[in-house]
Amino acid sequence: MELIFVFANSEILSSLYKNIEKQNLQKDALLIKTLAEKNPNEKYTNLFENSKIRFTLIDELGNVIYDSKNRNNEQNMDNHKNRKEVRDAIILGEGFSIRKSKTLGLDYAYYATRFKNIDDKIFVLRTSKDYTKQLSQLKIFSIILILFFLILNYSIHFFYKNYIKRDFYNKINKMKTFLIDGENLNSRNFKDEAWLLEFWNILKEWQKYNLENIKSLDIERKTLNTVITSVDLFIGLIDKEGNFILKNNSLDYIVSPDKLKYLEAIKYIEILDIIKESLKNNSNISKEIYIYATKEYFIVSTKPVKYKNRFLITIKNITETKKTIEFQKKFINNVGHELKTPLTNIKGYLIALEDAPKNLKSEFLKTVNHNVIKLENIISDFLNISKIEYYPSLKLEYFPLSKLKNSVIQSLEITISNKNAKISFIFENNLTSIYSDFEKLNIILKNLIENSILYNKSSIPNVKIIIKEIRDNYFFKIEDNGIGIPKNKFNKIFDRFYRIDKARTTNLGGTGLGLSIVKTLVEQLNGNISLTSEENKGSIFKIMIKKQ
Ligand code: ADP
Repeated sequence: MELIFVFANSEILSSLYKNIEKQNLQKDALLIKTLAEKNPNEKYTNLFENSKIRFTLIDELGNVIYDSKNRNNEQNMDNHKNRKEVRDAIILGEGFSIRKSKTLGLDYAYYATRFKNIDDKIFVLRTSKDYTKQLSQLKIFSIILILFFLILNYSIHFFYKNYIKRDFYNKINKMKTFLIDGENLNSRNFKDEAWLLEFWNILKEWQKYNLENIKSLDIERKTLNTVITSVDLFIGLIDKEGNFILKNNSLDYIVSPDKLKYLEAIKYIEILDIIKESLKNNSNISKEIYIYATKEYFIVSTKPVKYKNRFLITIKNITETKKTIEFQKKFINNVGHELKTPLTNIKGYLIALEDAPKNLKSEFLKTVNHNVIKLENIISDFLNISKIEYYPSLKLEYFPLSKLKNSVIQSLEITISNKNAKISFIFENNLTSIYSDFEKLNIILKNLIENSILYNKSSIPNVKIIIKEIRDNYFFKIEDNGIGIPKNKFNKIFDRFYRIDKARTTNLGGTGLGLSIVKTLVEQLNGNISLTSEENKGSIFKIMIKKQ
């Protein structure tokens, strides 16, 4: 564009120069013609001797007749018929051209005009002038023009670029503010730049979409976090450098929550060995281990995760499960053992009964009956145990305390009458009914009262049961005048299958499960049980149950 402008400008100027030159030469030609016409008798030589104008007279055939700058040498000059200005003058009446003079070797402007002399012969009068100066002026002008445009161009480019840059920077900064703060930009800020507004709208759409994505990712992350943190097993993900990139805080006594490297975080060599082996072989490992220091069993599992060479480590404490399995084994063993003794007795006495003398028969039957009761007790305890294990939930209801009392006494009817026991229930503070689990309380009281009668050497076993409210609790006190329990056995008697030396009692029907059942039930009722006792004087069991 600018080049065209420079070119056009130069052309205009050059044609202006040419026109001025043409007009000057035209005037000169006219002057010469007039002078020549007015002085027909004078020789051109004389007439224009002192004129600075170069002029040439050429005949119709192109022969130079006179040249003011080449006087007396005209016959040696080339034929001028083919000179543009001469040709134009002959054909059109006048001609003008700028070119290098073959005669003088300089740039010249030529003007030629046709005229007839008095003999009616056609001649061409040509005036010419040195044009070198004008041409060099035009050249300098063009160079200045080009330079001017170059500098202008560069300056505009420089300033515009900077302006655009600054403007862009400001707008991008505004967008950045919005993106960071979520603040809405006024669309007036872009009133002159529709494309920027469009871009801004796209950005906003995109940002909205991103925010939604971030929100749903955040929900997923929180859900995953909640799941990971709420499980009771340790979960950790390590990268190939052995740093934890994700872990929960479970089993913090095994894995320090504040250490980054698994080698520093995991405290026990038994676990570290498994992880090292798995890392070395890039393999899945799942191993059960026993940690001597904590006296616990764990399952340690490691698994390479394909994504970014990561390793998943899980550690689960299985001590309780192990104990349950152990207990079940022991339990089955004990069941067999406990059932075997009375059954062998029953079998032996039944065989002996056939040949037994009459006077011993009733004695034998009594023993058989005694063993049958024992079998019943054992089976009932076992059934209670499994019932308690499998149905830990509570069945809460309002029921009168008299119902509870009647149910317990009825279930112990034979024992009470056999031992001639005295059972007294006292409901204090006008308490007549309670809101609790009837069945569980029934088993608790039955077991405790039965023990109070059985482990008792008094002629009249006396059992006193007090039930009352203490603030938000129901309180039960079972007091007997039995043989008592040695202090060092207070904790042990609540263990499963634990029985104090069998010799100290006539109760051969016990299984050692009664008090453990009581304790489990009390805990299920959200309460606790305590014991005070003095040997040969009696025992007191106290139960405190939180009201539901
Ligand atoms: P068992 O089936 O032997 O009665 P329990 O778990 O009910 O089992 O009792 C554990 C042991 O605690 C009993 O063997 C007995 O020696 C002792 N014991 C329980 N209750 C009393 C009590 N009221 N007086 C004295 N000893 C008791």
